[in-house]
Amino acid sequence: MSISSINPVNGEIIKEYQEDHPETVNQKINQAHEAWQSYRETDFGYRAQFLLKIVDLLNERKNELAKLMSLEMGKPLKAGVAEVVKCASVCEYYAKNGATFLADQKVETDAGKSFISFQPIGVVLAIMPWNFPFWQVFRFLAPAIMAGNVGVLKHASGVMGCALAIEKIVEDAGFHSNVFKTLVSGSKAIAEVIAHPFVKAVTLTGSTEAGKKVAEQAGRLIKKTVLELGGSGPYIILADADLAAAAKTCAEARLINNGQSCIAAKRFIVVKEVEEEFTRYFKAAMAAKKTGNPLDNDTELGPMARVELRDELHEQVLKTIAQGATCILGGKIPAFGGHHAFYQPTILTNVKKGMLAYDEEIFGPVAAVISAKDADDAINIANDTPFGLGAAVFTQDLILAEDIARNKLQAGSCFVNEGVKSDPALPFGGINQSGYGRELGMFGIHEFVNIKTVYIK
Ligand code: NDP
Repeated sequence: MSISSINPVNGEIIKEYQEDHPETVNQKINQAHEAWQSYRETDFGYRAQFLLKIVDLLNERKNELAKLMSLEMGKPLKAGVAEVVKCASVCEYYAKNGATFLADQKVETDAGKSFISFQPIGVVLAIMPWNFPFWQVFRFLAPAIMAGNVGVLKHASGVMGCALAIEKIVEDAGFHSNVFKTLVSGSKAIAEVIAHPFVKAVTLTGSTEAGKKVAEQAGRLIKKTVLELGGSGPYIILADADLAAAAKTCAEARLINNGQSCIAAKRFIVVKEVEEEFTRYFKAAMAAKKTGNPLDNDTELGPMARVELRDELHEQVLKTIAQGATCILGGKIPAFGGHHAFYQPTILTNVKKGMLAYDEEIFGPVAAVISAKDADDAINIANDTPFGLGAAVFTQDLILAEDIARNKLQAGSCFVNEGVKSDPALPFGGINQSGYGRELGMFGIHEFVNIKTVYIK
């Protein structure tokens, strides 16, 4: 069986990869486990020095890596470079802070001495998606290897070139060999990987469906999982918001990575009295984005990652319109010719409960505008979702905004007057159908360690 990378600009096959034989997969896991036997004994200074070498390599290779993303999943070059630089920043963050986060913690008890020690657990399997092919992997990888774990990666089938480039970076940084291995495998091969006795835990970023399957397999074997799944990011716009600024931020937040981001803004819940004015600014900001070949320097929006994902998105748009929504921008597959995955930025208004764009995640450049009677109604609508990843509120009343962000919105991250974004120092993850566990920050590095109690009489 082979795995293909396909250019979403024209449908051409970029490269085909021979899938690893099950024996090879086994061998890679065994080698990673073998590497862990000595790697776990290394100190934080040793691990940090290699993480900092990765920082240098990422910065040196950022242009070629960005080009690889453009070819394999359509990300514009500028955004690709920014993604690689962000990967360098998460490596630097854990190289600098990992030792502090994992230092022993003394606890006063009736013991002569008692403390908490954070011990590595071994091989962690990372199942990662195509939307941020480098960032999703490095935000797992940097804390995992700083904590003394080793990793095997099952990357999304369409970005195998990126997956192998990551393996090469870790190798070239001079880490112990086999500390990080890429499996050239489709998802069918992964149940066996999860079941391998040396695989101790699994982290998955992707769809809720994939998360359910993987968590079920791992759960049956009592293996820990961290799941970072979908979202239906509600953005509330209150009457006193700076509407022009809010609309600009909302358009950026909807169109990040061409809308293919778990934390992208998806539902815009606007109080009635400013809905018309906000929507006018919002439409102008969405329409201003330049779509084109991701390899052109001035392109802001490339194609979506795959033709079938674009087709599914278009179906969702058509169904929502049939359910009574109004399309005020886009809603069409552009007539560029050829087998491309482009989609126009689209705005649907009059979106209501029971319509597809209200109830489901929309993973592409399509915004749903929902009308709310007042702030309380807006909060209720925001929370009326099975997801709970990111949420935002726009208002000039910062006291009210903080209360809404802290106490009212049910999500893993709540932002005020800003689009939801990840930062190496801030924990990232969701609640409900958006998953569980946290990546990044101090909490992220504590997910895959044995939090060990040591009691000395
Ligand atoms: P998937 O969730 O299917 O893919 C994500 C990763 O999970 C890939 O590596 C995939 O491998 C793997 N995977 C899928 N099913 C299994 C399984 N049963 N066992 C092991 N691994 C598995 O996403 P899609 O690419 O199909 O995109 C579909 C939708 O998922 C999007 O429209 C979006 O809604 C959501 N999504 C959310 C993301 C997020 O950031 N939260 C990221 C990507 C998608 P393979 O590629 O080989 O199938």
